[in-house]
Amino acid sequence: MEVTIYGVRGSVPSPGPETVRYGGNTVSVAVKLADGTRIVLDAGTGIRQLGKDILNEGAASPIHFLLSHQHYDHIIGLPFFLPIYQPGFEIVMYPLEHQEIRGDQSLAHIFDGIRTPAGVADLPSTIRFAQVSSAPWSIGSARITRIPLNHPGGAQGFRIDDGDGASLTLLTDNEISPPGKPVSTPERLAEFAHRTDLLIVDAQYLPEDMPAKRGWGHGTVPEVLELGRVADPETLLLFHHDPDRSDKALDKIAEQAHEFAGNQMNRGPVLVAAEGMRFKVEPNSCILLSS
Ligand SMILES: [Zn+2]
Ligand SMILES: [Zn+2]
Repeated sequence: MEVTIYGVRGSVPSPGPETVRYGGNTVSVAVKLADGTRIVLDAGTGIRQLGKDILNEGAASPIHFLLSHQHYDHIIGLPFFLPIYQPGFEIVMYPLEHQEIRGDQSLAHIFDGIRTPAGVADLPSTIRFAQVSSAPWSIGSARITRIPLNHPGGAQGFRIDDGDGASLTLLTDNEISPPGKPVSTPERLAEFAHRTDLLIVDAQYLPEDMPAKRGWGHGTVPEVLELGRVADPETLLLFHHDPDRSDKALDKIAEQAHEFAGNQMNRGPVLVAAEGMRFKVEPNSCILLSS
């Protein structure tokens, strides 16, 4: 599969000279499976560019959206995703596990003619709301599994196991040590992600952000590194950066991560996610093509 990072920022877009290298768009990850099927993980402002790239490619194939949850930073790109306004495109939305909100209700909330000029009935693309159970299900050549995460209001993580054996796991938004009983323990998260090829994890905070940000639903860098050590991916990618984390501060985290990988990780590197990173993911291999 091919994986492209379109947005890395948590909470709110953060453009400006301090964030220009890692990027200021909120989270979105595009996946092209071995059979060409397109999956989009989360719909932050990064999907604006993805939409343009898809139109430039010209093929109106179905686009499958897996959303971790519906905090604004994960859905705010949808009204700016051009394929949704194109007849001939099919958009497939999957439900959230942890809420009683169906995909059609959430879209009706965004495209209501008040918050956006178009109402959901006016959208010229075909929008389909998939019905899935809690068991794994298929999209194209891949099998999809999910896990509940530790986040206020709930969130779900995904693992995509492609038919050729390559896999990607995304765990965002998630607090590894939340106050109270975790929905999913670090052991359970590591087991879910075990030996995945590319593991992308919310690492928004540093230890010095605590205890002020405890209970806000995001991981700290050292906890995520430890999760990565146990899960043993080919590549661990730190993701969902704090909007106040400058490029310089992220460079520092990248240095720590590099050192950790050299000493503690069994297989590949630990990288700090940046907009535009593209990975070729194959069984037991994850190659960074461009950054
Ligand atoms: Zn978020
Ligand atoms: Zn959130």
